[in-house]
Amino acid sequence: MPQQVPQPVAQPQPAPIPQPEICPVCKGTGHVQQQVQTLFGMVMQIRDCPACKGRGTVIKRGNGAAITGLIVAILSMILLFVTKSTSIDEYTASISDVKDTCTSWMVMFWIGTVMLVVAWVLIIVSLAKKNHSPVVITAIVFASIALIVLFICMTDYSDVKDTLDMVDKYSGSYRGWNY
Ligand SMILES: [Zn+2]
Repeated sequence: MPQQVPQPVAQPQPAPIPQPEICPVCKGTGHVQQQVQTLFGMVMQIRDCPACKGRGTVIKRGNGAAITGLIVAILSMILLFVTKSTSIDEYTASISDVKDTCTSWMVMFWIGTVMLVVAWVLIIVSLAKKNHSPVVITAIVFASIALIVLFICMTDYSDVKDTLDMVDKYSGSYRGWNY
């Protein structure tokens, strides 16, 4: 015989900081219905909501890491795109231009790489806190694009390094790159 087993419903707690939100599991009621198989058949049991422990509200998880991760991911993606699109024309540029371009390529490459690592750390921290908000998902998308661009940049790394080494080697002996 089905029977209702109501449990006392806790009153919503006064709003602490940060602002609590209505619990998405129980829609703010603080309790959930659950069918339980007993000796007497299926029993509809009302129990405290496990997500909010009967409060009806949940404290929104800190989104700071996720937002920072998103910003850093976007910036590293832009920086790596700029790095990738920086072309070095060794045949028409002057030796100092080649050196400057290679140096800025290296600087952008490494700053972009470090930023991307930071972005992924923040994303992983957010995921570890069970934060699956759209901010985290968007950060993952941008950080993944940045990672792909980083891999493309890596294929140019040795060329840029070789050019830079060569420029350093010859910059003492030649006034100009092309003559
Ligand atoms: Zn709840």
